Amino acid sequence: MKDSIKIFSISGIPIELHISFVVLMLFLFITSIYFGSPGFIFYILLLFFFVFLHELAHSLVAKRYNVKISKIILLPFGGVSAMEHIPEEPSKELAIAIAGPLLNFLAVAITLVPVLLLPSGTATFQEVFFSLGMPRNLLELAAIILKVNLLLGAFNLLVPALPMDGGRILRAALAMKIGFAAATDISVDVAKVIAILMFVFGFLFSPWLALIAFFIYIGAMQEAQITLISSVLRGVKVRDIMSTGVISLSPGMSLNEATDVMIAHRHMGYPVVQSDEVIGIFTFADLAKVEKERWASTVVEQVMTKEVISSSPDEDATDALFKMHSHGIGRLPVFVGGKLVGIISKTDILRATELLRIAR
Ligand code: ZN
Repeated sequence: MKDSIKIFSISGIPIELHISFVVLMLFLFITSIYFGSPGFIFYILLLFFFVFLHELAHSLVAKRYNVKISKIILLPFGGVSAMEHIPEEPSKELAIAIAGPLLNFLAVAITLVPVLLLPSGTATFQEVFFSLGMPRNLLELAAIILKVNLLLGAFNLLVPALPMDGGRILRAALAMKIGFAAATDISVDVAKVIAILMFVFGFLFSPWLALIAFFIYIGAMQEAQITLISSVLRGVKVRDIMSTGVISLSPGMSLNEATDVMIAHRHMGYPVVQSDEVIGIFTFADLAKVEKERWASTVVEQVMTKEVISSSPDEDATDALFKMHSHGIGRLPVFVGGKLVGIISKTDILRATELLRIAR
């Protein structure tokens, strides 16, 4: 199931709203209307506008380093830029990590001038800064933008816990001295300690903080796993682990016929080939979308996934894995000059990782 909704694209990067964010917005919208306090919903909207700009800043710098961004997902606690791989050169990770908070501090700098000049007669800076009301004029709006960006920038930059920006900066700084893998180990431990302390504090005083702590902990564990996989798979190419002799389906096959093939070969997904060209991917998940009674009358072409994301034999296995991860798919057809030569699945890669780890 898709758990995020695409809202628009910017320079080829799809921007998606996570479903939990949609639910939260609806809930806040209804309650703020019920209690007659539109100020709060206004704050949330503003906050997420700047979370979006913050993520976009990360993405644009990443793009400069040829790190492909497959999408930006806006979550209730901030954003996630799904990168196809995280660069291991510390200077690049540093630049990508700093770009987000830098954008927030830029907004702080821009709004600081009019806010400092806030004329007497309107509310004072302190009043606006600490209230949660709707702004009554442009100067108060500037003060609120300043506040939101100061919080976002400082929180992301100053908490040195992976996967937050501060944690990435910490890892990049350590990596310059002790290498990427050792730097990740230390940064992950630091992040876990911070997450646990934050959770305890949040449990006592603020449920939001506890929730963020939870996500930091999960994020840190993922980061550790990613680093383990990429260090074990160093130098391993897609050609080394892909399956050749690919079984494919034809677009006109009924789902009953396709099921026979799937059972016979025990793979979860197959390329759909028409006159030597791969026109889609058909997976077990696609099959499950159709009720069993309709399998005889439905053909593969009607339910297959038409967007084909592919790999090449020379691609690093790690990059292929991250590509699958960021697109939420389980396998990639492998092409050479438009010709299908193999298929590589998440399971193939994880199994290879496990074997290599034991063998070394
Ligand atoms: Zn960030």
